[in-house]
Amino acid sequence: MVAEQSLMDGLSETLKRIWGFESLRPLQQEVVESSLANRDAVVVMPTGGGKSLCFQLPALLSSSLTVVISPLIALMKDQVDALRVVGVEAAALNSSMDEEEEADTRRKVLRGEMRLLYVSPERLLLSSTLELLRQAKVARFAVDEAHCISAWGHDFRPEFRQLGRLKELFPGIPVQAFTATATPQVQRDIAIQLRMERPRRFVGVFDRPNLTYRIVAKDDAVRRTIEAVQRYPNEGVIVYCLSRKDTETIANALVANGIEAVAYHAGLPNETRRRISEDFAQERANIIVATVAFGMGIDRANVRCVIHECLPKSMEGYQQETGRAGRDGMPSECVLLYNHGDVIRLKRLLDGSDRELVEHQNRLLEEVRRFATSHQCRHKSLSEYFGQEYVSTEEGGCGACDVCLGGMKLLEGSTEIAHKILRAIASLRINNGVAFWAAVLTGSRAKRITDRGADRAEGFGSFSSETTDRVTTWIHQLLDLGLLVAEEGQYATISITEEGRQVLASEADVELIENSALIQPAKARKSKSGTVTEVPGMDHALFERMREWRKQTAQEQSVPAYVIMHDLTLMRLAAIRPSSIDGLKEIPGIGYRQSENYGQALLDLIAASGLPTDQDKPGATARPKQTALPNKTASYATGFQAGLSVAEMAEKNGTTERTMWDHLATWVEVARPDSISTWVPVEIQEKVKKAIGKTGEDLLKPIFEELGGEISYEHIKVVRASLG
Ligand code: ADP
Ligand code: ZN
Repeated sequence: MVAEQSLMDGLSETLKRIWGFESLRPLQQEVVESSLANRDAVVVMPTGGGKSLCFQLPALLSSSLTVVISPLIALMKDQVDALRVVGVEAAALNSSMDEEEEADTRRKVLRGEMRLLYVSPERLLLSSTLELLRQAKVARFAVDEAHCISAWGHDFRPEFRQLGRLKELFPGIPVQAFTATATPQVQRDIAIQLRMERPRRFVGVFDRPNLTYRIVAKDDAVRRTIEAVQRYPNEGVIVYCLSRKDTETIANALVANGIEAVAYHAGLPNETRRRISEDFAQERANIIVATVAFGMGIDRANVRCVIHECLPKSMEGYQQETGRAGRDGMPSECVLLYNHGDVIRLKRLLDGSDRELVEHQNRLLEEVRRFATSHQCRHKSLSEYFGQEYVSTEEGGCGACDVCLGGMKLLEGSTEIAHKILRAIASLRINNGVAFWAAVLTGSRAKRITDRGADRAEGFGSFSSETTDRVTTWIHQLLDLGLLVAEEGQYATISITEEGRQVLASEADVELIENSALIQPAKARKSKSGTVTEVPGMDHALFERMREWRKQTAQEQSVPAYVIMHDLTLMRLAAIRPSSIDGLKEIPGIGYRQSENYGQALLDLIAASGLPTDQDKPGATARPKQTALPNKTASYATGFQAGLSVAEMAEKNGTTERTMWDHLATWVEVARPDSISTWVPVEIQEKVKKAIGKTGEDLLKPIFEELGGEISYEHIKVVRASLG
């Protein structure tokens, strides 16, 4: 216990010195404690949640060897690079290393100098590795991407099953399993497969508040992809497609439109794939059009947009793939292009050999289909799918999905439109697919239509002034509503269902959704510099120069750009502009080794910019302070002085409470009342102050997250304003 306590005391110091972080996140703290207490554990933390620290920190604190089992060489390489950048002794044992490197690694392991050793499951179980580890005294095993061990997961890898032998080969050595996506069933399975003893289970909050989810009707896949990609010039974007051929088609189309994009899939030579991944990590390439083969190990932290050109096969897959957006916690977007055609296509691909598995896959597919067609907040749907309640922090929804942002509009006259389509399909018994019917309804006189007499059908040309794409999305919606059905198998011919007939007979209402992308393309949210968000007071030109420096440095050292420094760290540098190494160390996200290695280069960039530094503006912080009351706020001052509540003030002045909270914060900042307890209870004030002590006050989101999402942004803003 005593030893454990002193370890925990060293924690903050180590965290700050090595990584430049102020504190552990609440769940990280628990996991690290349990790891230091040598407990087995299953840890589920969303992407970007900070899993790596959970096993890296204990290795440093206990000065012992942690063996990390990881499925992919690329993944191991990134982590090892990142550890070396911050000055931690780490290596990966794998087939790509030469003899000398391997000998060196073994030596360090045996001398007890190595803190983290990464291996694949196959490699781990080679007798030479087992022998090494037996001599080396392993303190603990961490299994990364642990869902790969479960056939119920979305990326089962049979070689992971052999890890069941760990407990027998290394009795008494604790095993911790980490994954970003696991349903409760998969969590249980992981513990069983790894034969854990009294495992603890840690499950983080799945919601990713920095991601905006958008589902867009897939009428013209290329056009929709271009629209999304264009919102993120010079930023990392991944477009996921179903097939190799699709990746090439879309990439070519982007290139033809003057957008630099590269296709990536498992059919490319290894060397090409390696080069593409590296170009992406080092920010020489920004847009990758890929199959899910471009997946694990792609840890670039500033991916600003993930586009699904095809429906993913499961919610787990969707969470995992969209998880690659915004790992650095900065606002990022996920666009899913959807039409029912993809469901038909994916069903056709389900392998028929194992009935139980096919049924399981069918259920998974049905879940994503339901997600894509529902009219419920996307954050809520995702959280609930993973068994967590979602409480939105903003009035009127999450503020970060197409549903809550009002992107979903009822199609005008939808009942009439739906009835016309249903009637046409019911009246003419022609076996044919969606494309055929869209052509009939728009009045095409193509030969395949006239040949079959469809030009004399009821409803022929009903929508002759509409595009085929638009009509196609309506037919797809009727399929999703169960009013039409597509036959399974090769030809997916569509017909009306019993329910569809009843709708016609009873003249029931049908609600179709207008595809917002068709009427109003989503607005660009970026600023001039092309970055999506920014730290107040940052200088854009300086930030861009720092990014350029980072890109070159990454290339010189052949490491991913993000391991050198995150965007947010560079933004803070470009805002605060320290003039000394000591000042630099104060910036969150810069550890001692980084300041040693990169500090001078950054200080030179800051000096060369000619901008005022922290020395020239003593006491200045990145957040510009309000010094005078804007007119509107001034008119509310008397009310606030009289101690009226926000609700009363809003009611009295005919505005929303939300707006009134903002006025209150501004007033507090300028007028400096003796107390703010009228609006924020003292214990909440204390909590917020404590959190700000850890995160700094520049950005609200980190404060909000530090508080575990329990305290509203309104309260945080007012307390922050009172700090002066
Ligand atoms: P995961 O593996 O869960 O996707 P990572 O371990 O890559 O997440 O961490 C995600 C990001 O969060 C990284 O950029 C990491 O540096 C940062 N991070 C992790 N823990 C902390 C912390 N306690 N304070 C600040 N940043 C952190
Ligand atoms: Zn929402």
